[in-house]
Amino acid sequence: MDVTPILESLNDAQRQAVTAPAKSTLVIAGAGSGKTRVLVHRAAWLIDVEGISPQSLLAVTFTNKAAAEMRSRIESLLGTPVNHLWIGTFHGLAHRLLRRHWREAGLPQNFQIIDSDDQLRLIKRLLKNLEIDDSRWVPRDIQYFINGQKDEGLRPQHLDDDGDPDRRQMIALYQSYEEICGRGGLVDFAELLLRAHELWRDNAELLAHYRRRFQHLLVDEFQDTNAIQYAWLRILAGTTGIPFVVGDDDQSIYRWRGARVEHIHQFQKDFPGTTVVKLEQNYRSTATILNAANALIANNSSRMGKNLWTDGADGEAIKLYSAYNERDEADFVIGRLRDWIAQGNLRADAAILYRSNAQSRVLEESLINARIPYRVYGGLRFFERAEIKDALAYLRLISNRDDDSAFERVVNRPTRGIGARTVELMRSWARANSCPLWRAAGAIASDELSSRAANAVLAFLNIIERMARDTAELSLEDRVDHVIHTSGLIDFFKKEKGEKGETRVENLLELVSAAKGFKADPAEEMSPLDEFLSHAALEAGEGQADAWEDCVQLMTMHSAKGLEFPLVFLCGMEDGLFPHQRSIADPQGLEEERRLCYVGITRAKQYLYLTYAEQRRLHGMDNYSQASRFIAEIPDEYIEEIRPRVQVSRPVQTTPRRRPSGGSLAPGSDMGIRLGQRVRHIKFGDGVILNCEGQGAHARVEVNFETAGTKWLVLSYANLDLM
Ligand code: ATP
Ligand code: MG
Repeated sequence: MDVTPILESLNDAQRQAVTAPAKSTLVIAGAGSGKTRVLVHRAAWLIDVEGISPQSLLAVTFTNKAAAEMRSRIESLLGTPVNHLWIGTFHGLAHRLLRRHWREAGLPQNFQIIDSDDQLRLIKRLLKNLEIDDSRWVPRDIQYFINGQKDEGLRPQHLDDDGDPDRRQMIALYQSYEEICGRGGLVDFAELLLRAHELWRDNAELLAHYRRRFQHLLVDEFQDTNAIQYAWLRILAGTTGIPFVVGDDDQSIYRWRGARVEHIHQFQKDFPGTTVVKLEQNYRSTATILNAANALIANNSSRMGKNLWTDGADGEAIKLYSAYNERDEADFVIGRLRDWIAQGNLRADAAILYRSNAQSRVLEESLINARIPYRVYGGLRFFERAEIKDALAYLRLISNRDDDSAFERVVNRPTRGIGARTVELMRSWARANSCPLWRAAGAIASDELSSRAANAVLAFLNIIERMARDTAELSLEDRVDHVIHTSGLIDFFKKEKGEKGETRVENLLELVSAAKGFKADPAEEMSPLDEFLSHAALEAGEGQADAWEDCVQLMTMHSAKGLEFPLVFLCGMEDGLFPHQRSIADPQGLEEERRLCYVGITRAKQYLYLTYAEQRRLHGMDNYSQASRFIAEIPDEYIEEIRPRVQVSRPVQTTPRRRPSGGSLAPGSDMGIRLGQRVRHIKFGDGVILNCEGQGAHARVEVNFETAGTKWLVLSYANLDLM
């Protein structure tokens, strides 16, 4: 094959990076400058031109979606499928190693991955077992502490309490947590990385094997590697591996999870003679969007400093919409999406991005009302839903009876007469005998329990044993189907009233389809069930979107890293929400929020909307906020404000006929009503005033009702209650 196709459509700097000599290389460049593209082309170049076997390449990216895309782009450049090429996330690759070498890693063969929810639950249970006050020792703080230590590569025995009793307690809790995980064969996310690192550190032969195998280490989004990830790369590289890393210090947004942008400097020290390539031309966004992003990020002081340019068109101004509240904001977005779709554009080319997951709900409701298909990435993903986790817990128990967190989750779900007291007895028995709950349950059933409680417990143990036996020979899909039925989960949720129960049943059935669509990797050395369970814990829902119809993309700005869309909405641009309240007072935190905003803006190729709400109900509370300071940091020349039809709060003057009684807007009331005012209508329910016109008996208001949609009402008949 001619070499040109691989180097075609690359600029000089990109070409220099792709063809860099076989030693360590660092590409440091701003958003949309082609870093990911360079990485893909480098892989193809190595394979096709340098004749390197795909087996010798290891590529690390940030999400599974990105990994899949990287593989397909490499294959399309080479014009042939490539096998034995390891591409994945740090977590995914670590997991793969641990599955292959579970023995050397000191894990049971059927170890289970627990997600952060399971982890939190486990910590809560631990506190309860140890009779430690969870208001003084907040489970989330303990979780944060444990994960933070693991991310730094530290085990309890590495930690010193410095004479601080609080710290001593934290370390002790970390220790007990480890013991529980060890007993149950449970591995949390941080543990995957730490253990994979220790696997190599402590097994010279194994390390030598992988060092020989992986010559070229390609890493995308390098600015967001944490200590343990970096250590993992370093130990693998040794003195013979050739790392090729690309990143952007301005897009480091995971400091809170231990990511250290300083690794960019460290890298150059650890790998002397590194070739450094800078890319400065942006190919993604219009000049307007790019200039706005550049101006914003210039407000950060800790930067390596670089400017991006484009020779593309100026494009349209960034549109700014000031909404009365979150519903008005959602309506605005829907209106624009409708136009976008009506113009024949793909829905998937539009993305709605926000700072926090909770913001998606209102947007989702409006999208549902408007019948616009959408998909939420991240957030409460499919595999994180309660009913799905119930079903997975049954499957986990089938695979491993010692899995305490699965045991606790379903021992009385659906309810089968195993009360809190019985569970408490099991726990203390398990604690006293250092054994899993499963064994404790069997023991106390024959000894300590009343015959009724004992029967209930034995029945549960029986169900699990029977399920394991009856499904051993079934396909994965039939297995899942069998379990959701015989466990009683389906019947249980069918009884739950209303739409919620229905959705849960649908989701359970969807799990059967997920199992059906799941392709077990024949190269993996675990059972398809274990592989499926790992997949569920690790890849939570990410794969689904592909199979679905064309739909609008919703995600947090964090999840949008590396992606691009022709049309982007950044919603909730309010101080306190974005930048987040807890970061405002902390200069470093504020800079990280600004980098996140930079990431958000630079996702847009052609059209960018910024929206904010004067009033927002979030987590059940009303907040009144100012527009985000980040908006003010974008020069006016790039922004065009879209004024609502009626400006600001304007009282409606109507002729008084009688005094308003209570909080009711009596006909002809002289009470001023405000745009954005919340009202209640006897038939339509709760809503918000969006607009008003006319006077006296003719005064009309436009109200956006939460369920009934938007309606114009004549004030004197509507009998609205103020809220
Ligand atoms: P981010 O920092 O957001 O991850 P990035 O630096 O990885 O961005 P890419 O996603 O690789 O940038 O590239 C951005 C867009 O520009 C992509 O659509 C890519 O195909 C396009 N692009 C990059 N380089 C070129 C080029 N030389 N010619 C044409 N298009 C290019
Ligand atoms: Mg990229």
